[in-house]
Amino acid sequence: LNAMVAEDSGLRWRNEFAALPPKFFTRLQPTPLPDPYWVGRSNAAAQQLGLDAGWFASADALEVFTGNALLPGMEPLASVYSGHQFGVWAGQLGDGRAIMLGQTEGGFEVQLKGAGLTPYSRMADGRAVLRSSIREFLCSEAMHGLGIPTTRALCVTGSDARVRREEIETAAVVTRTAPSFIRFGHFEHFWANDKLDELRTLADFVIDRFYPECRLTKRFGGNAYAAFLEAVSERTAALLAQWQAVGFCHGVMNTDNMSILGLTIDYGPFQFLDGFNPRHICNHSDSGGRYAYNQQPNVAYWNLYCLAQALLPLIGEKEVAIAALQSYQTVFPDAFLARMRAKLGLTDAQDGDIQLVEALLSVLRQEQTDWTIFWRRLSQHMAGADAQTVRDLFVDATGIDAWLLSFGQRHASVPREAAAALMLRSNPKFVLRNHLGQQAIEAAQRKDYSGVSTLLNLLETPFDEHAGHDDYAGFPPDWASSIEISCSS
Ligand code: AMP
Ligand code: MG
Ligand code: MG
Repeated sequence: LNAMVAEDSGLRWRNEFAALPPKFFTRLQPTPLPDPYWVGRSNAAAQQLGLDAGWFASADALEVFTGNALLPGMEPLASVYSGHQFGVWAGQLGDGRAIMLGQTEGGFEVQLKGAGLTPYSRMADGRAVLRSSIREFLCSEAMHGLGIPTTRALCVTGSDARVRREEIETAAVVTRTAPSFIRFGHFEHFWANDKLDELRTLADFVIDRFYPECRLTKRFGGNAYAAFLEAVSERTAALLAQWQAVGFCHGVMNTDNMSILGLTIDYGPFQFLDGFNPRHICNHSDSGGRYAYNQQPNVAYWNLYCLAQALLPLIGEKEVAIAALQSYQTVFPDAFLARMRAKLGLTDAQDGDIQLVEALLSVLRQEQTDWTIFWRRLSQHMAGADAQTVRDLFVDATGIDAWLLSFGQRHASVPREAAAALMLRSNPKFVLRNHLGQQAIEAAQRKDYSGVSTLLNLLETPFDEHAGHDDYAGFPPDWASSIEISCSS
């Protein structure tokens, strides 16, 4: 058993998930790692959690967030789920290396990722390596900084314990927080195993805590489960609109990696687009491009269809489930257009806006113009910088010149200052590009963690200028395209 440390963390525990019936999880202890050290800590995430700042810096905290010690009131467990992976039913999966420590009274579940074997580890080792843990830590906080719904990351700890991947690497643990880590796959699990009582218990659990308005619905003849499916569809649509607008590729949109709360979850081979290639594939294992950037909105809908199938015994009629799913088809395009209007500095909606967006996307596609830099320079142009800084991004400026003309006409009646301000808070200067993460990782592998904290600082407020850090907002170096990131982490 893990040691208990004294309770001055500031946290109190409620553990609602642990009060569910035994079929939902296995109680177990994290497996300790030797001689842990801090790799990165997010004070902002700690504050959101309600963690005492002094305690967070303590040696006890280091042990707790490595899985070597527990706080009184924690009830560690691993949950079971199933899912579709790359379009194929994968059967039972589960928290194979994630261990939930508990849920705080403030409503956050705290989970260690990489804390050792569980009954759901299958053939794997229950561990996570330093490289992928730093990526998850930084990207969780980066997404939060961008205003995109996501699980948060409190900290990363490391240990020299060896972990075998393609090469020998070292172990790390990321502490994640979220109101819930329940995935579409949790519902699929009970549906696939004909456990309809558990399916209903799970749906009621999620509805009561996170979607209480579904109980009051007049839609679908007052069918709360249909209203729930509709609400999840809408949150997922809103999330995908944000991913597409910022150029985020998830890489492994399996149904077990889809949050029932519409959060970005399970950071693996994710990537922010460098050049705008709509067919970009970030996951080196995804040879068919199932999860390519431009496929993400459709895949999310496919995943919602799997969820609908799992909820069908509760919803009752297939037609009702299909109707509830339909909301995705209107919310996604509307939400995407709203995001693009903000990126374009448009405060009202006009009929030709879709055409304006599509024309721009086709110009950017021509030369695979850098997505983040283009939008930031366009924002600065609106704020007064010369149009030449935008034109410089193109070898052949014919297309962008024509587009800038129509953009200028569309803006004729919009006050320029308001437009510029909207653009500068809608188009980040800093995103976690692969090469930036890679540089921080290589330094961390030499036990220099300054790159992790510098990046965290920039990515927490990615719309700010951060004078002196333009290096982090530049074009990717040539070697960036040779970084290969797959599912194995
Ligand atoms: P992923 O594709 O990373 O979302 O993982 C799919 C499934 O594999 C989940 O059930 C994970 O818990 C499990 N898994 C991934 N990596 C490991 C590992 N190193 N040890 C145990 N389980 C793992
Ligand atoms: Mg996963
Ligand atoms: Mg994973």
